[in-house]
Amino acid sequence: MPQGDLILMGPPGSGKGTQARRMVDDLGYVQLATGDLFRAHLSQGTELGKLAQTYMSKGQYVPDDVTVKMVRERLADIPRKTRIVFDGFPRTVAQAEALGRLLKECGRSLAAVLLLDVPRDELLKRLGARATCSRCQTVYSLAVRPPKVPGVCDRCGGPVSATARSDESPEVVKKRLEVYEAETRPVIEYYETRGLLQRVSGVGTMDEIGARLTTLLDRRKSERAAR
Ligand code: AMP
Repeated sequence: MPQGDLILMGPPGSGKGTQARRMVDDLGYVQLATGDLFRAHLSQGTELGKLAQTYMSKGQYVPDDVTVKMVRERLADIPRKTRIVFDGFPRTVAQAEALGRLLKECGRSLAAVLLLDVPRDELLKRLGARATCSRCQTVYSLAVRPPKVPGVCDRCGGPVSATARSDESPEVVKKRLEVYEAETRPVIEYYETRGLLQRVSGVGTMDEIGARLTTLLDRRKSERAAR
């Protein structure tokens, strides 16, 4: 695997959370998922959680300053030698610029930015029927990838419930996809011009997509070594 941290990008429903967790389980990364951090704050009833929820429930992004501050605090807890996979961050160009500064401050660097490509029709299908493990936050698509035993998490055995997240109603899903196009598309370009972006098809089984990502990372590592 390449030295340095990774960013996993993709629209809502592209499976980036699932693949990030696979990288944690199989490749020893630590996942830094801003959506999970906001939800953890919310379940602990913190002020930050309550503030974030006012945006999340409408499908909007939490303001950059709030998000970056939370990421900075989380980063301070992660040892420098541990590789991080960023999931759902950065989502705006301002966040991408802030991340560049934060990584520099911590003596870290980015190895690659992986973008999961999934057609819009498929995204809508996946987002319509999701279920989440309340213990480890693994997300299942009931239409495309249900748990092997209904209601039981494949990963940790925790309870998987189909009660939709408050940000998964059809109107909110539509809004989240619109916000992604407007705010996050430019981040793709930002990393493309810096030669860091790699596109990967996000269609297929979890293992197929995972294998594509691993192959790509191995290839990147050999290219870097050859330079
Ligand atoms: P996710 O679990 O990554 O799909 O994120 C759920 C929601 O949390 C998003 O729709 C946003 O409202 C909020 N959120 C997560 N990450 C960010 C971020 N990097 N910037 C702003 N808002 C975010």
